Amino acid sequence: MLHELSIRTRARNEMVDITADIREAVARSGVAEGICHVFVPHTTAGVTVNEKADPDVARDILDALSRLVPEGAGYRHAEGNSDAHVKSTLAGVSAFVPVRGGDAALGTWQAIFFCEFDGPRTRRCFVRVLGGGTTTDRDRR
Ligand code: ZN
Repeated sequence: MLHELSIRTRARNEMVDITADIREAVARSGVAEGICHVFVPHTTAGVTVNEKADPDVARDILDALSRLVPEGAGYRHAEGNSDAHVKSTLAGVSAFVPVRGGDAALGTWQAIFFCEFDGPRTRRCFVRVLGGGTTTDRDRR
């Protein structure tokens, strides 16, 4: 089943921690072992996995992207949001997370972030959990 999240963003550039929503979708799917695919159906937003422990990491990522891709830097696209389109491509619009023991197998410091580059807006995010494979003793370590 395709699970759909609705995400309200509050700034033009923002990283929203959606880990709890993804974990809930994984739990609801009933899949114990498999993979979770997260897809952002937008051209000026993205998804990435990175550190949640220090919120400055997300701020640094947004600042670095804005230095790499400045707003209004002579782009052709008449809508005026080409920086957001380029950032979407840099971040990517999908992420895969392994599912183990009925939960997203993220690292201790990892979180899944919805990346807004042209907000504030109400956005969507699709989550599909696919079952498959078996847990081995090696995976459990
Ligand atoms: Zn545009």
